[in-house]
Amino acid sequence: CGIVGYVGDKQASKIIIEGLKRLEYRGYDSAGIAVINGQLSIKKGKGKVASLEKMIGSGEKGSIGIGHTRWATHGEPNDINSHPHTIESGKLAIVHNGIIENYNTLKKKLSEQGYTFYSQTDTEVVAKLIESFLEKDASSLKKAVQLALHQVHGTYGIAVLHSDFPNQIVVARKGSPLLLGVGDGEMLIASDASAVAAYTDKVVYLDDGEIAVITKDNYTVESADHIELSKEVHELTLSL
Ligand code: GLU
Repeated sequence: CGIVGYVGDKQASKIIIEGLKRLEYRGYDSAGIAVINGQLSIKKGKGKVASLEKMIGSGEKGSIGIGHTRWATHGEPNDINSHPHTIESGKLAIVHNGIIENYNTLKKKLSEQGYTFYSQTDTEVVAKLIESFLEKDASSLKKAVQLALHQVHGTYGIAVLHSDFPNQIVVARKGSPLLLGVGDGEMLIASDASAVAAYTDKVVYLDDGEIAVITKDNYTVESADHIELSKEVHELTLSL
């Protein structure tokens, strides 16, 4: 239901928790976060953002991460079905808003290829699908996400983190809102501007079919047919 992400010099978990709290009014049943600090680490569970915050304590270092509040559509609200979802190696984390319509077909195919599924969600299928493309060509996370999304029918706002690409977050949208918050030496992503407004007033709204890669100093946006776009930067007039 809500997505927040951060890359910069600050402690990502703090900023993400703060952002998720700003999105709480939208309703949710579970919350989770993934950060990279050398390794990728995931904390998640059914319940409030405040419980997630307690789970993290002050221990979650790392200046890049993604977070999620879930409104369950596929699979009951429980700890395993909470986002982020991951792959066997634990190197990838994905958060997703929306519904993957053909997840059953994809899940069957991937199971036949040897992938194991632990949750009942439609989202976990996308994690394994991205991994299957990375196994063939590990040169670009963006490319693997793009190829995976070509096979997906449905709606999504997604953010993907991978410890082999520790300085970037890949995001994409179709039918679910997603924006980039452009800061000075830091970048945010969110499903709603209220989650980034405390850090920047410059936002770039992604349109359907677009995919973006953000790093602390830069962002690039591509259309579905792989054309690099120069997007308009909007000035936020939200007051918090
Ligand atoms: N369909 C996904 C799930 O049930 C995402 C739900 C959401 O948008 O929060 O896990």
